[in-house]
Amino acid sequence: MTAATDEVVGRAPQSTPEDLDAAVERAHAAQREWAKLSHEERSAHLHRAADAIEANAAALAELLSREQGKPVKNGPNAMFEIGGCVAWTRSAAPFPMEPEVVVDDESGRSEVHWVPLGVVGGIGPWNWPMMISVWQIAPALRMGNTIVLKPSEYTPLSVLALAHVMNTALPADVLQVLPGDGALGRAFTAHPRIDKVTFTGSTATGKAIMKGAADDLKRLTLELGGNDAGIVLDDADPKVIAEGLFWGAFINTGQTCAALKRLYVPDSLYDAVCEELVAVALPIVRYTDLEQAIAWANGLDVGLGASVWSADPERAKEVAMRLEAGSVWINKHGTIDPRVPFGGVKHSGMGREFGVLGLKEMAEAKSISV
Ligand code: NDP
Repeated sequence: MTAATDEVVGRAPQSTPEDLDAAVERAHAAQREWAKLSHEERSAHLHRAADAIEANAAALAELLSREQGKPVKNGPNAMFEIGGCVAWTRSAAPFPMEPEVVVDDESGRSEVHWVPLGVVGGIGPWNWPMMISVWQIAPALRMGNTIVLKPSEYTPLSVLALAHVMNTALPADVLQVLPGDGALGRAFTAHPRIDKVTFTGSTATGKAIMKGAADDLKRLTLELGGNDAGIVLDDADPKVIAEGLFWGAFINTGQTCAALKRLYVPDSLYDAVCEELVAVALPIVRYTDLEQAIAWANGLDVGLGASVWSADPERAKEVAMRLEAGSVWINKHGTIDPRVPFGGVKHSGMGREFGVLGLKEMAEAKSISV
């Protein structure tokens, strides 16, 4: 159903455990050939998949809008999400993944090679369904794995359509999508032939997945929820930072993992910052002592993103280093970049996506010593 009007947008199948078995079987068969390709060949496939997304951008955005509810245009909208899909698909392609020589002396030579894991199971949320699927698909494929995705039951059509388009440029069965509910997600987690689960969603589900994956020590990446804090330092200019604060909090109507959710403002700027922001939004908490604000910011059991707002970048960096979060932004919040690792500390998850670190999460390190 569309999130906006409850009108039926389309119907998706409910996959069974037998469908999952068959998909995983096909994924294993395809993986053997896919892994034989060079990094350059797999990267060329990813570029072609990105071209296909780009060529179908308008239709994908229309479906995403109808199913998930975000507008097609204006602001961080469906077209913006499709643009993210293109960018992240391309971004996984060019990073060099040559073997790393870690010893080369009279004692011998040791190299670290990054080898595929096998079949990856991707489980995703509803808020950025296409873009987060790409965050899972692109690095998994680049590193020589195949992938089977289970989208959120709120957004199966968007992910099916995305995969359909990408598959026009990919060999058969390297990318498959199985719509289904949480029970199918549990079956992914427990499936003995899925080698890794990469999951984006809530902390509660992430914990359930970790328990379910314990029996066969499945590899995991868990991108979980946050409650991001921002700290305004007493040298910031409220007029300059107001717009960044607003978008840090309300991108995708605030339904974003790394959205700004708590803002700590010093006594000296409290009224001015409130004046700039109060017309549009934002729980704003007054602080007197910076140490107290840092303690409040770090006081929760989650740590996805955080931000520091200041006219002095070096001072802001000192505070940033003390904040317990996987990403800390200075004078902005939640701006992600495919080259920069992203993920959470504490109950916000484990592992990193994006960049070289994200690619390594989709591989095993194999040491070869002579
Ligand atoms: P959920 O955790 O409810 O669901 C995420 C996915 O997990 C869905 O596909 C869901 O299926 C599936 N699922 C549910 N139960 C299980 C289970 N026991 N085992 C395996 N899979 C299961 O999250 P939401 O969809 O509500 O997504 C919003 C959450 O995602 C927020 O907490 C947000 O902060 C977080 N998030 C984190 C990001 C990050 O990068 N750290 C980015 C974006 C969002 P079904 O829908 O069918 O129930």
